[in-house]
Amino acid sequence: MGRVNYSFDGETVVVTGGSSGIGRAVALRFGDAGANVVVADVKEAPKGAGGPDERIPTHTRIRRSGGTASFVETDVSDPAQLESVVEAAREFGGVDVMVNNAGIFRGAPLLRTESETLDELYGVNVRSVLIGIRAAARDMLDRDAEGTILNTASISSEFGQANHAAYDATKGAVMMLTRVAALELAQSGIRVNAVAPGSIDTQIGSSGPNRSEPPKTGWQNPRKDIPMGRPGNPEEVAGNYLFLASEDASYVTGHLLYVDGGYAVL
Ligand code: NAD
Repeated sequence: MGRVNYSFDGETVVVTGGSSGIGRAVALRFGDAGANVVVADVKEAPKGAGGPDERIPTHTRIRRSGGTASFVETDVSDPAQLESVVEAAREFGGVDVMVNNAGIFRGAPLLRTESETLDELYGVNVRSVLIGIRAAARDMLDRDAEGTILNTASISSEFGQANHAAYDATKGAVMMLTRVAALELAQSGIRVNAVAPGSIDTQIGSSGPNRSEPPKTGWQNPRKDIPMGRPGNPEEVAGNYLFLASEDASYVTGHLLYVDGGYAVL
């Protein structure tokens, strides 16, 4: 199969939750495409000898790095921290592509879901998306620039699963924030889209500011099988963000792009 070599030379891309999983793959792919990538995450990417994570430097201040990534320690559930990342990205000339990707998963039967769990999920998965959209769009409008905003939704945005009530509600909200933001910004030349992954092999479920337990990999799908018969990997998801940010998608806005091995078809 062929591979598209996108060019985002000199463009500034902010990726929240870019230290692992889908966000890390997205950050690395934008870096490969020549972008200045700013990773905003609560934790740094782990180091591996010779591994791709070594391409994300460990410094905690943004600095001009040209086609590589910078890391800014950020808790996206704190609006001030997230806004300051967008503000700091002005050092590169302002945000061209904002990827609101950071997210956490907490599962429990609805009748045993604590309101604190919903608050925690809401802060990371929903409020950060609204703040990220708002901060990036204001920055783009101030500069009279045509940028792109991408959110990480989920198959859970439209397909509910037992024991996922609070998480699925947050992902439904991400879908709606994407659509409404796309409508409001359509005339400004700012496109807003979402990638909706299905079952992707990452450490979600063990991540987030309040988690320290060992990682659980994979994503259980109790409702129905994945038509392609396997979970996806983050690299299979990443290119879709570059497509949606590229000129090839210049007439695409408010869209939810499923990357799910056929799950949404069933
Ligand atoms: P992951 O746990 O590998 O990556 C999530 C990243 O977000 C981590 O680096 C984590 O440190 C970071 N993060 C968590 N809380 C944060 C906070 N408060 N501030 C800043 N960073 C924070 O998981 P992933 O699967 O790559 O998840 C990425 C996105 O994809 C999430 O929005 C998730 O809901 C979504 N998603 C994942 C799947 C899946 O099957 N893995 C499916 C659908 C949607």
